[in-house]
Amino acid sequence: MSLLLCGHDESASAIRLCKHLLSAAERNATETAHYRLLRGVRMDYDLCCRDCGNRVKGGENIELFEACETCLTPWVLNQKEVTP
Ligand SMILES: [Zn+2]
Ligand SMILES: [Zn+2]
Repeated sequence: MSLLLCGHDESASAIRLCKHLLSAAERNATETAHYRLLRGVRMDYDLCCRDCGNRVKGGENIELFEACETCLTPWVLNQKEVTP
């Protein structure tokens, strides 16, 4: 069984986010602006920083990493959400 970056197994529901937000989450940084990228599947979304959001808007693909919801949700809820 493979592990997510946070060390939990992948049976936990995963959130995908860009490496900048991942490192912010690891530092438990407060007030990191992020975008929600809707995947178009149910209400699933990926998270990325402002720079990556702009790149996605410009048609670029960004690299996303997975960590589990349990680890990320408390952090995500503290962040400012920006609308693309
Ligand atoms: Zn980013
Ligand atoms: Zn986890």
